[in-house]
Amino acid sequence: MQQGRKQTTRRLSLKLVALVTVVVVVAASAYVVWTQSRQSDAVESKVLAEARTLNTEMSAVWDYIDDSQGAINYNSDGSYDFKGIYCSMAGKAIAQRFTNASNNYVVRYVRESPRTATDEPDRFEQTALNHFTVGGSSEYYEMTEYEGRSVFRYASALPVKRNCLSCHGEPAGVPDETGFLREGMKLGDVAGAVSIIIPVESYVQESQREFESSVAFFCLLAAAIVAVLLLAMRRWVSAPLEQANRQLENESQQKSDFLATMSHELRTPLSSIIAFTDIWEKSHAAEDSDERKLVEEIKQNSSVLLNMVNNTIDVAKLEAGRLSMQCSDVDMVDVVEAVFAVAEPLAIKEGVSLDRTVDPEMPFLHSDAEALRKIMLNLVSNGLKYTPEGGSVQVSVRASADGRQAVMRVADTGCGIRPDNFEAIFKKFDRPGAGEDGPISGSGLGLFLVKSLTEKLGGTVGVESEVGRGSVFTVCVPFDGPATGE
Ligand code: ADP
Repeated sequence: MQQGRKQTTRRLSLKLVALVTVVVVVAASAYVVWTQSRQSDAVESKVLAEARTLNTEMSAVWDYIDDSQGAINYNSDGSYDFKGIYCSMAGKAIAQRFTNASNNYVVRYVRESPRTATDEPDRFEQTALNHFTVGGSSEYYEMTEYEGRSVFRYASALPVKRNCLSCHGEPAGVPDETGFLREGMKLGDVAGAVSIIIPVESYVQESQREFESSVAFFCLLAAAIVAVLLLAMRRWVSAPLEQANRQLENESQQKSDFLATMSHELRTPLSSIIAFTDIWEKSHAAEDSDERKLVEEIKQNSSVLLNMVNNTIDVAKLEAGRLSMQCSDVDMVDVVEAVFAVAEPLAIKEGVSLDRTVDPEMPFLHSDAEALRKIMLNLVSNGLKYTPEGGSVQVSVRASADGRQAVMRVADTGCGIRPDNFEAIFKKFDRPGAGEDGPISGSGLGLFLVKSLTEKLGGTVGVESEVGRGSVFTVCVPFDGPATGE
């Protein structure tokens, strides 16, 4: 029993662990997906901020050179001397130096129909320029691949400002100061774009490290919560429950022991009463007096009581795991005779006819004779008990069609059982239909014992019944005994 309790506790703990594990795995997966999407958003916003800073810096350079054109091109004597250090020239040169000096960063200026071939836009830059031209926002960016590396590409529109017009404005086709032909651009037109490429590997690696450490932290936290939960469960729930269970089992065991002892103490005097009535009957064989009827009554009631006491002892033994099957070769004729020796006088007293048919060809069974006797005695006793005067109880024993089982059938023409009670009648102390036709004495242990013993013999028990017409109980047990381990 203790073993069973331990197994139940282990099964419960296993179920709990499985449930908590499923919850943790689902939560961890959701956390991983959520964190990953957050991490990639975080990488993008970091590099976007960096790109914007670079863009602001480059545009500050550009503006500074533009503002300083006077200081650059006028000599100290006031003469104009164009030095060729104008905004786009300086911006591009600084961008080129920055590109050369930095590790895989690229800053460059592009435009459609550029004055120099190096400013020709690539596919991303062309898309950005188109985007700016149709009046989209002044920024365009994406995470992409560039020369086999993961990068963040950013482009910012360069609008035509007032001081750009001297080189790029009207009249179109006329050379500007630098010698290039003016493009005839207007104020606010998109002159081109600054294009920035930022390698993201280091950001991705850093965010991967952050991701891994936060997942590890989550897992540790989940494991700690699960451990605390299990410990708390064990300490505050299972342990007290187990203790209460043990206490209940002890009490139940004490009750069973008490019942078994009491029943045993009752059995001895009852057996002596039956033995004495037998002796009396034999020594007064010729008499047919009122005294004889009284003695007969004593004998039958004692037999009924003895059967109840025996059932009580057997159930107590069953529950204590002390009822083991002793198998040997059994002749069913002997079993039926033993049952009829007890049941026939009872049938006569109740005014119920009791018949038997045992297949003469029936082979011996390898089974427990005493268990088979108890099964049949309980079924026949019930048949007699629940059949009114004038009815009949028929016992038949034969081999099953496949020859593997012995089939015992006890049919009566009694009060019958409602189909919704078919299950309940086999439960301990359940007497669902017992009071329907007036109180009928009983303990509610008979069919429970029939079912338990049949199962111990490796067999099955079934019932068919119709209220008011009678019942048929059929017990099938294997000829070659219970399977090992029963
Ligand atoms: P008991 O007969 O002591 O009440 P059992 O376990 O033998 O206990 O039977 C359980 C219940 O099943 C009975 O109370 C009765 O309602 C029903 N029952 C059993 N056998 C029969 C039968 N042959 N005919 C009608 N009802 C029966």
